[in-house]
Amino acid sequence: MEELKEKLFSKKTVGWESLDDSKKNEIFDFCNGYMNFLNNAKTEREFIKQARKVADEHGFKDLINFSQIHPGDKVYFVNRDKSMYLAVIGQESMENGLHIIGSHVDSPRLDLKPNPLYEDTGFAYFKTHYYGGIKKYQWTTIPLSIHGVIVKANGEKIEVNIGEKDTDPIFTITDLLPHLAVDQMEKKLKNGIEGEALNLLIGSIPVDGDNISEKVKLNILNILNQRYGITEDDLFSSELELVPAFKARSLGFDESMVAAYGQDDKICAYTSLMAMMNIENPKNTAVCILSDKEEIGSMGNTGMESHMFDFFVSELLNKSGINRPNLLDKVFCFSKMLSSDVDAGYDPIYASVSDRYNAGYLGKGIALVKYTGARGKSGASDANAEFVAWVRNMLEENEIKYQLTELGKVDIGGGGTIAYILANKGVDVIDCGVPLLSMHAPYEVTSKFDIYEAFRTYKAFWNK
Ligand code: MN
Ligand code: MN
Repeated sequence: MEELKEKLFSKKTVGWESLDDSKKNEIFDFCNGYMNFLNNAKTEREFIKQARKVADEHGFKDLINFSQIHPGDKVYFVNRDKSMYLAVIGQESMENGLHIIGSHVDSPRLDLKPNPLYEDTGFAYFKTHYYGGIKKYQWTTIPLSIHGVIVKANGEKIEVNIGEKDTDPIFTITDLLPHLAVDQMEKKLKNGIEGEALNLLIGSIPVDGDNISEKVKLNILNILNQRYGITEDDLFSSELELVPAFKARSLGFDESMVAAYGQDDKICAYTSLMAMMNIENPKNTAVCILSDKEEIGSMGNTGMESHMFDFFVSELLNKSGINRPNLLDKVFCFSKMLSSDVDAGYDPIYASVSDRYNAGYLGKGIALVKYTGARGKSGASDANAEFVAWVRNMLEENEIKYQLTELGKVDIGGGGTIAYILANKGVDVIDCGVPLLSMHAPYEVTSKFDIYEAFRTYKAFWNK
């Protein structure tokens, strides 16, 4: 009977079991690279800047510099410094379809409002507007850093990054002391901290002088003027983002996990970028999408809903000398895609929200999510069985550990990715990413085993 069970049952074991030391070291080394990268890429702009640097070092070139492209060429296109598409041109005609992996590089955070700066009772503050789905209470009383750009009316662009170096100051949002929080503690968790209360504390020294109002605000503006050459109006044309000032760290006595901000979805962006750097002469053209704005619905000209990606693929077809009317549609209809985004990992402390037979588990390998919609699968891109079989075959051929999962219980779960956008163009798509705990929190938790399996999955997909 043991033999029969061995033959028929699905094997849902943890990847760490029966791993030899050299394999474990390989995983840990790869994850050290990942954590270093994360520390220099906390925002979408920083991620794209680093990704471009990595691509340049690996012989990729801006597509704009090519009049013609040939099999084996490595190209990229950067869209407004916030999203990026890379490709390694395949041996087969693009007419036979592309192999696409798409992730996103934006993460939940707090953005500054257009008129952020004010003074109240001796304190200066920046007003914020949160970006993406956050639990607001998690963003108070933690160290925050400010990242982004200020663009002056004359076009001069100033890059801001303050709060990351040990010698930098940090910023924080205060919360009420428990002694006086009787009313607050009675509120529902979602109302405990109001959106309008997420104001960042940025200073408290007033300028000298009588008959001047808002002396602390003036002092802050003076510091900003000396440091960045700006006035208050220059903040109109800025994109300044507050992110946790924590560093990415190994987690646990056994160091088996990574705790870091923004792993949704920089974990899949990094692993697919690294996989793309390791691709030589693929059969089908390999395309890597690093998109923006996924956390707020993929809208806008740097989001996946934009026509920028169609433009990129059209340019590939133009520069290959094969383009003709409607070819773009055909290319999409023959393409395959892994929508690489994180999955909700099963958390035993909050077990009641998951179906334990269909949850994604940390340490059990890459998670394939056939569909994401909750209740009646509303709004889901549901991958075809034929395509799931193709992906399984690819994973099994390469001895990659994988699990088929759902995002929460039927009546509870649900979450969007960019999968449906490409599926609507005719591409065969499945969500395929890393399970994660504390999604969208300032510190998110993943398993190093799964991170490395994601890297291996993406390499195998492009090499198939
Ligand atoms: Mn995501
Ligand atoms: Mn997300």
